[in-house]
Amino acid sequence: MAPAMTTKPVAIVGGGLGGLSAALHLRRHGYDVALFEKNAQLGGRANRIVAHGFQFDTGPSLLNYPWVCRELFAATGARFEDYVTLHAVEPTISFLWPDGAKLILSSHVDRLIASCSALEPGAGPGVMAFLRDARLKYDLAFSKLVTRNEDSALRWFSKLSLAEMARLSVWRSLYGQLGKYFGSSRIREALGSYGMYLGGSPFDLPGMFTILPYGEMAYGLWLPKGGVYALVEALRKRNTELGVAFHTNAAVTRINAAHGHVRGLALADDAVFDAPIVVSNVEAPVTDARLLGHENALARRRGRANRLRFTPGVVTFYWGVRGLVHGMGHHTIFLPNDYRGAFRDLFRNGRIPSQLPFYISIASETDPDLAPRGDSTVFVLIPTPRLSELGPCDWPAVVASLRNQILDRLRLHDIDLTQDRIAHETVYTPEDWGERFGLHDGSAFGAAHTLFQVGPFRMANYAPELAGMYYTGASTTPGTGIPMVLLSGAMTAQRVTSREA
Ligand SMILES: Cc1cc2nc3c(=O)[nH]c(=O)nc-3n(C[C@H](O)[C@H](O)[C@H](O)COP(=O)(O)OP(=O)(O)OC[C@H]3O[C@@H](n4cnc5c(N)ncnc54)[C@H](O)[C@@H]3O)c2cc1C
Repeated sequence: MAPAMTTKPVAIVGGGLGGLSAALHLRRHGYDVALFEKNAQLGGRANRIVAHGFQFDTGPSLLNYPWVCRELFAATGARFEDYVTLHAVEPTISFLWPDGAKLILSSHVDRLIASCSALEPGAGPGVMAFLRDARLKYDLAFSKLVTRNEDSALRWFSKLSLAEMARLSVWRSLYGQLGKYFGSSRIREALGSYGMYLGGSPFDLPGMFTILPYGEMAYGLWLPKGGVYALVEALRKRNTELGVAFHTNAAVTRINAAHGHVRGLALADDAVFDAPIVVSNVEAPVTDARLLGHENALARRRGRANRLRFTPGVVTFYWGVRGLVHGMGHHTIFLPNDYRGAFRDLFRNGRIPSQLPFYISIASETDPDLAPRGDSTVFVLIPTPRLSELGPCDWPAVVASLRNQILDRLRLHDIDLTQDRIAHETVYTPEDWGERFGLHDGSAFGAAHTLFQVGPFRMANYAPELAGMYYTGASTTPGTGIPMVLLSGAMTAQRVTSREA
């Protein structure tokens, strides 16, 4: 049942997952919500390409923590399962090294122990101790930190006892934390490689981020039937049922403000939409610099944004491949011999590593309907430095070189994916990512998750200097990734309801 309309309109800028979640939460609180998306399709980075019978998810290839989706739909009085069917991806991920060494992660503890033991004989007790420790960290993080709107670091941490603070291992590196449980450098490399998406190397990021690999093992990895985009369609459907108004092909050029208060939006077609509350789902520093550029009150906020660290860019290939690809499962991460060197190149030297780390997702392995019968949809993701770090770039040449390196590496593992089998190719460079979705400096995942960029240290989801101005999505709290941006929508709605009451 749709809630009664209030007279208070909210304009949301951007229809990414954060914007769609904020829209649902605000609507259920009775706000009159209109969402403006510059592209023809909703979803933002979680978009869809359809070509020659192949269907590709542009960004997220897998969903974790499905409980977040269930809670979101339940908050609106609906059952997630009535909107989306989830396929389990098992094994969750395989890691491959150039010499053929392999680690296969699984949500089944016995399989996980067997795979770890192949790299480190007798790894069982270490695996169990790792899981126990990471579980405590995960529970602590989610029950006391992640989803709380808190401006004061002191108050944020005051929820934790000293023992709990120590338990989070914030002062030890992720790689060091993994070393407590695993002697094998291969296991540490694999579980530490998650740092890439958080915007740091496992040698710098805090040990509490063992919750990432743990979360995937504990809650599994999932592919919605029809691809991750089915989640976007479900969110759109539920929003529409509740009465949210969508405007696509509607680029916002300015967030209007006067006398310290937001007034609404100016659109590219010169139309104006009046609203006393605006929630921007556009990356927070881009919102401040480009959409609120005229608002001097935000100078301090912008100054902070300039000092923030951001996650890398990515080059992504979408290949429609004839036939099945043997020798890989759904989700494979290819690690280089020189693991430290690759992270140094990415995060310190500002260059694409000579030995590439990259990942491949073959969604049609789990959902064959995503490709013509008997064929495969192949998604390749290669992390790169950000645009400002790379400097001027001859992208066609870089893309050709990356394609060759990927195919060479596959040949090394006897994986039968050759150039002549690629019937369709789309490529997004960091420039494309930046232009399509308004990303800051081509950063694929938004602001990094270093210790001093989480919780109250992260860009806040409201602007105290500008009444009625709110933010949602990857670069504000709690952070990046599907579950986090969905939670971000809930946290932003909570800010709105508590401040605008
Ligand atoms: C290649 C890649 C792979 C990933 N893989 C995973 C994964 O496997 N699992 C996972 O959980 N996460 C993954 N992520 C992260 C996840 O996709 C993001 O954290 C999440 O989608 C970000 O959502 P958002 O709502 O913050 O922002 P966005 O998706 O960027 O949404 C912002 C929206 O604002 C719109 N917009 C911008 N400017 C304007 C304007 N001026 N006017 C109107 N609209 C505007 C954009 O077009 C966009 O639709 C991946 C990301 C990438 C890039």
